[in-house]
Amino acid sequence: MRRLLPLAFVALLALGLALLPEFQITLVNNIGLYALVAIGLVMMTGVAGMTSFGQAAFVGLAAYSTGWLGTAGAQMLGLAGSPLLPWLGLLLGLAVAGAVAWVLGAVTLRLSGHYLPLGTIAWGLSLYFLFGNLEFLGGHTGMGGIPPIEIGGLSLIAPRPLGVLIWAVVLLAMWALSNLLDSREGRAIRSLKSGRVMAESMGIDTGRYRLRVFVLAAMLAALSGWLYAHQQRFVNPTPFNLNIGIEYLFMAVVGGAGHLWGAVLGAALITLMKEQLQDWLPRLLGASGQFEVVAFGLLMLLVLQRYADGLWPMLSALTARLLPGMKARPTATAQAAAHAALPQPTLPPCGQTLLAAREVTKRFGGLVANHKVALDVRAGEVHALIGPNGAGKSTFFNMISGVDDPTEGEVRLMDQPMVGHPSRAFAARGMGRTFQHVRLLKERSVLDNVALGAHRRGHKGWFAAMLRLDRAEEAALLAEARRQIERCGLGAYVDEAAGSLPLGAQRIVEIARALAGAPCVLLLDEPAAGLRHKEKHQLAELLSQLRQEGLGILIVEHDMEFVMNLADRITVLDFGQVISHGTPAQVQRDPKVLEAYLGGADDLAGAALAEKAVA
Ligand code: ADP
Ligand code: MG
Repeated sequence: MRRLLPLAFVALLALGLALLPEFQITLVNNIGLYALVAIGLVMMTGVAGMTSFGQAAFVGLAAYSTGWLGTAGAQMLGLAGSPLLPWLGLLLGLAVAGAVAWVLGAVTLRLSGHYLPLGTIAWGLSLYFLFGNLEFLGGHTGMGGIPPIEIGGLSLIAPRPLGVLIWAVVLLAMWALSNLLDSREGRAIRSLKSGRVMAESMGIDTGRYRLRVFVLAAMLAALSGWLYAHQQRFVNPTPFNLNIGIEYLFMAVVGGAGHLWGAVLGAALITLMKEQLQDWLPRLLGASGQFEVVAFGLLMLLVLQRYADGLWPMLSALTARLLPGMKARPTATAQAAAHAALPQPTLPPCGQTLLAAREVTKRFGGLVANHKVALDVRAGEVHALIGPNGAGKSTFFNMISGVDDPTEGEVRLMDQPMVGHPSRAFAARGMGRTFQHVRLLKERSVLDNVALGAHRRGHKGWFAAMLRLDRAEEAALLAEARRQIERCGLGAYVDEAAGSLPLGAQRIVEIARALAGAPCVLLLDEPAAGLRHKEKHQLAELLSQLRQEGLGILIVEHDMEFVMNLADRITVLDFGQVISHGTPAQVQRDPKVLEAYLGGADDLAGAALAEKAVA
């Protein structure tokens, strides 16, 4: 089923390229050229969550590179007339676009929120004006005489053979990218969308991945620019201006920014629509003017208002409804057998200190959220950190997991000083964690989410994934994810979208994801919140078992009954300071603890603790 629409499309395309009259073939080719750019935008915007209005500039860089090399450059190098020129132009175009993207990305990707799209507008504009103002590139009039692409003595001048090449490139790119998305690296790219903190704590260098996705999108735009220059055999600045950059983004979004095929659909729809509008509007309105731009914008708004996720998901759902007999085929990854296994690291001996915080102080301006907090976690114990709301527990979690740095103090993990290191360094040393506010990729399956936790345990890179050379490793990663899901009692949910689970179950998915990283220390921020009585019981059993296996577990939790029954040691925070520390029995009898909890009259947990102590 998943393959039906794409197959139908490819069949239609082949027929079109074979049978359509020549002037319409050019239209088909243009759709392919737009689609290449839009596919890159799907990767960037839909999958990785970065918006760019500036892709047209990368198309232009490659078009101008190959254009220059094929004309003036050829003269300079004494290569005039060589059939190799377009191919050298391809290399040059990719190199120039890639290098410029690398530099621009390194500068603009640091910008957060709305600054990135604004930055892309700025570079889109500047590169456009640059093209127009460089005399050796022909200025605003452009440059002509670019040679056609030659393959095996066949010169691709006519639209039909060129169309075959264009669409071969598009389909090859689609294949490679859908392979990439269906892999360990694809999961890492998807995780970028949900923010830095979660991805980094899975061991992913988010800055590096963002930059690589950005360069990838620029390279796809460059491929399009190269093909374009040799199709037109003439370039000028007009097709690379900001308007076109915005149209590319429209194509990606209208088709469905999260789907590669959405890019092809969007490119086709918008190209055809523009054609029609240019024909019809002057007739309807009886005047020429740029009405199509207005009509076009309104149509976009309409589509996006009705189908916020783009048209591709809608089309998919429609065919699924029309052809109900065809069962959704499990994806290749879901079929992966569970034979392969990842090596299991050995855990440190019980009692060894895994994580130690000394004198950790954190100030937010004048507020002291943590004051000289000391705490350690040993292998084979559950250590609970409790305290009223606002006591500084989450802040302390951030200090000991690399999310934020302490103002003063020391944090050691596996006997290594960690202050100043990012979360991914903590993950690399064996820390796994969950979040107080669940951070899952909600539309992805439970399996996919948990497999992300095993990211660090695989090594295959982007090219291996694109060429499907990572299948054995991928099967092992998925098998490990399944194992952890079943161990946590979520076997029934493996293929469900994580966001469709009850909140309590989502918390357990986070635990499974942390376990998939084979950690030796586990940090859990309020794991029992939102769980029902029976689920809490199961969670306690799971944590006891992990403790028995030798993990060190640090847990922040409000449910006192849960904590008192499970923890070996408890540290109590109040107003950022440790006010008590000891076994559950000791802490329950500590008058300072009772006072802290009874002080907060609305705190149910405190009341429960006080009751328990009195009883
Ligand atoms: P807990 O998790 O124990 O409920 P927190 O660690 O979230 O407590 O908060 C401790 C105190 O630090 C609170 O007074 C909170 O308002 C403050 N705080 C937490 N994060 C920040 C921040 N990023 N900037 C300023 N104040 C903060
Ligand atoms: Mg908190």
